[in-house]
Amino acid sequence: MKSIRELYKIGYGPSSSHTIGPTRAAQVFLSENGGAERYRVVLLGSLAYTGKGHGTDEAVKKAFSGRKVEVVFDKTTQPAHPNAMIFTAFYDGKTLTKEIHSVGGGDIRVVGEENGSPDIYAEKNFDEVKKICIKNDITLWQYALEREGRQIYGFLADVWNTMKACIEEGLQASGVLPGGLGVQRRAAELLTKARPTNGNVREDRLVSAYAFAASEQNASGGKVVTAPTCGACGVVPSVLYYFKNKKRCSDEAVYNALLSAGVVGNVIKRNASISGAECGCQAEVGSACAMAAAGLASLKGMSLHETECSAEISLEHHLGLTCDPVGGLVQIPCIERNAFAAMSAINAVNLSSVLAESRKVDLDTIIATMFETGCDLARGYKETSIGGLAKHFDGNKVIC
Ligand code: SF4
Repeated sequence: MKSIRELYKIGYGPSSSHTIGPTRAAQVFLSENGGAERYRVVLLGSLAYTGKGHGTDEAVKKAFSGRKVEVVFDKTTQPAHPNAMIFTAFYDGKTLTKEIHSVGGGDIRVVGEENGSPDIYAEKNFDEVKKICIKNDITLWQYALEREGRQIYGFLADVWNTMKACIEEGLQASGVLPGGLGVQRRAAELLTKARPTNGNVREDRLVSAYAFAASEQNASGGKVVTAPTCGACGVVPSVLYYFKNKKRCSDEAVYNALLSAGVVGNVIKRNASISGAECGCQAEVGSACAMAAAGLASLKGMSLHETECSAEISLEHHLGLTCDPVGGLVQIPCIERNAFAAMSAINAVNLSSVLAESRKVDLDTIIATMFETGCDLARGYKETSIGGLAKHFDGNKVIC
């Protein structure tokens, strides 16, 4: 597995696979073809269906800024990957073409080339990680820290500061989100309505306010951290932000929670997918929920088995969740879904403190199940906006 630096990426929303990935792809292509007369970028698969709403064309044009570029949405060609891009550079008398895939979480793969940084974790799944932890009597975050080295704390400080700023700016913002759906920002309202309450109602509203704040920032193209993606960027920060404030945890405790969450995200990324276009929303928000649960279990000092159980319950109960963003925008159902997953992560941790010792299903089994389920999902439910809520939602219907 790769470093968790490859999992948590600081970038601009609304979509890691549709804005961060294509931007990086354009930069890679330009680094080798900066001197062409003009360029064409063809967006295929999910990028063709929801690229407009996600702002893919704008992100690509921005990366090509100052150059002549045509961006084409092609829904007719069957791509080799759900998020494929064909870049062409036109020189005097010759052309140069490269196919690049946006594989989730802002990662890209250039077809026909060696890709990516070397693995720094020899372990390939959670069972192998668990064996190392048990053998050496260490926690999940201690295992990650050994592999990453103490310099990872500097990186995690940047990640956490960006997550915090995203929540705090989102709580201050008001108005309607861009894109034409007329979706109002609601984070501030949730925060206001949490204040006079107490107990579970207060906890649910506060965590939801934080998740809405981060997700609304993402929907408006703000600076976020992929955890593991932009669309799911509200889940991990909201849970950690709530508990850090409630329990007055140190920053270092939060960094360690991010390490535990990162191991879970990495195992899912290595063995299944974190891409909505590949495996539906179970791979994005479901994975984020599992990461948040592992992070919270770590923050609470829970055992390795309880941490695994928390992540397993979280992912298990997102199985089959489809990706059907209305209008191709990362707003409905995405924003509310982040809040729901954050509350689910807290519930999963509470359940695991009782159920961990008697559980039957391990995390690797659920990850394998999620991947197979995702592969079996019909194309309309994988970030194409041609099925599910994206098909049935009537924006003109007056509800209240
Ligand atoms: S439905 Fe889920 S996977 Fe799809 S865009 Fe929204 S958050 Fe991402």
